[in-house]
Amino acid sequence: MRDKPCQESRTHGRIPGAERRARGPCVVMECFEDIPCDPCHDACRQGAIRPFDDLNHLPEVDFDKCNGCGACISVCPGLAIFVVDETWKDDLAVVRLPYEFLPLPAPGDVVAGLDRSGRRCCTAKVIRVEKTKRHDRTAVVWIEVPKALSMEVRHIRVGGSARGLHEG
Ligand code: SF4
Ligand code: SF4
Repeated sequence: MRDKPCQESRTHGRIPGAERRARGPCVVMECFEDIPCDPCHDACRQGAIRPFDDLNHLPEVDFDKCNGCGACISVCPGLAIFVVDETWKDDLAVVRLPYEFLPLPAPGDVVAGLDRSGRRCCTAKVIRVEKTKRHDRTAVVWIEVPKALSMEVRHIRVGGSARGLHEG
């Protein structure tokens, strides 16, 4: 049985290291609260999210099994799951993020990339928007960001304010 993670190990099994990220798309689970929740486990057909011994435990990912499919992103009620692909282009990475605002952006749109505190940190280009029945009310937006910011950009601001701003 897994022990409840101590504070020092909150990121272990949830945040992939640079070596794993360099091998291809993979999940990033920014889930650090002990809440009774596990739909991410059921959504993963690769068996990459280990079974929960206790519903209050944090999710734990086997990053070698994760193929970055993104099926877990839109099922997370906490909007805590992302997929990062640092192999996308030489200097650009793709971040896939959950998005529940309207209007949705469209492929080709330029948006503001925001960090975890909502601070604008870059301009990002939308390259895909997934919104099917499977995604319920949570769309998955794919954005292209500077590779150095792939672990920083976690939200977007859509609209005119995204344009004409200085690069962060
Ligand atoms: S991205 Fe796909 S393979 Fe990776 S944990 Fe999520 S559902 Fe599983
Ligand atoms: S679905 Fe989201 S909030 Fe629930 S355990 Fe998984 S990552 Fe955490």
